[in-house]
Amino acid sequence: MNLIWDLLSEKPSLWVSWSKAEILRGLSLWQMEKKQGLSVTWKAILRLRLCVSSNLVYSVGLNSSWSLWFDPWLHSMSLVERLGTRAIHDTGLPRDASLSDVIHGSNWSWPSHVWQLWDIRHESSLIRIEQRDRLGWIKPGGPFSFKLAYESIRPSSSIVSWSKVVWSSGGIPKHTFCLWLTFLKAHCTMDKLLRFGVVQSSLCPFGCGQDETVDHLFFDCAFTKTVWSKVMKMNNCRLPTSWNWNDTATWAVEHTVGNHFRFWIRRAGLAASVYHCWRERNNRIFRQSAATTESILARIRSDVADKAALNRSIRDSPANRSIVTNWDITESIFRNPIDELSHEQRYTGSNTRQERQRRRGVG
Ligand SMILES: [Zn+2]
Repeated sequence: MNLIWDLLSEKPSLWVSWSKAEILRGLSLWQMEKKQGLSVTWKAILRLRLCVSSNLVYSVGLNSSWSLWFDPWLHSMSLVERLGTRAIHDTGLPRDASLSDVIHGSNWSWPSHVWQLWDIRHESSLIRIEQRDRLGWIKPGGPFSFKLAYESIRPSSSIVSWSKVVWSSGGIPKHTFCLWLTFLKAHCTMDKLLRFGVVQSSLCPFGCGQDETVDHLFFDCAFTKTVWSKVMKMNNCRLPTSWNWNDTATWAVEHTVGNHFRFWIRRAGLAASVYHCWRERNNRIFRQSAATTESILARIRSDVADKAALNRSIRDSPANRSIVTNWDITESIFRNPIDELSHEQRYTGSNTRQERQRRRGVG
């Protein structure tokens, strides 16, 4: 982490100059892609980027040179990660645009024709524009500290009860990010937009006649409730008696944290439901297109099943098999019985010489 900080703060050192010339070659640390042939140190640096970005505090100056799309200046995530390259293309701004391209005088000035920037516009409006750019560790202008860096990667440093629901490994980044905003109640829902005077009505875009709030969207609205209840059923979970976000969040903290497959898929199902319901809500408002609950469910199922098949390897137990069938996850997720055997033997100590030879095909 210290090396990353040296790079970002452009510390005058031989290593920083060498890295910029030989490794980065004109790219920023955030644009650099993983590739073969990098040293162990550089592979570790690229792996640690996400963790580091969550500790950085970007102060934005009048002539800000932070990369608009690639620096994680807003909520520790880059806009390219959050919006995708299509949205960038739609803005008409170049890939190498800096934040000064969307700041006029001391005010933010975003292209108004790109609906994906609506949330960003609101979130950035809460950032005060200062005299000059500054990078801080944990707090504005804060210096790097080993102690704070260690605290930030220590698992017990979780400050909020839901951090393990959001930040446990194995999540889909765009889903995780959307879930994080939901826990923070940071989405620009219609009730907020009405308060800001951006819209004239706060009616829910799913046509239920209620006002749109975070509690209503996740998952009190008839449309999203249908989606969420089906996801709960696929996970063999009992349906809740109360459907607002606060109670959903409490359920998530109590029933989705842990390494077991059933906990992972509950977290993944929740994040995917929040993400796809929010996306559908945006499509209805900004694109005048509407999908059915079945197609939202198909998207959720496909995202979660693909991720599960790619990243997980689980025991073939009746409980796991039932969930795998519900989600339509490929059979390859089940651990090979031979691996299972050797796994058990490692822990029971019954790994005899004959057994090892038999598995290697000797004798
Ligand atoms: Zn509704």
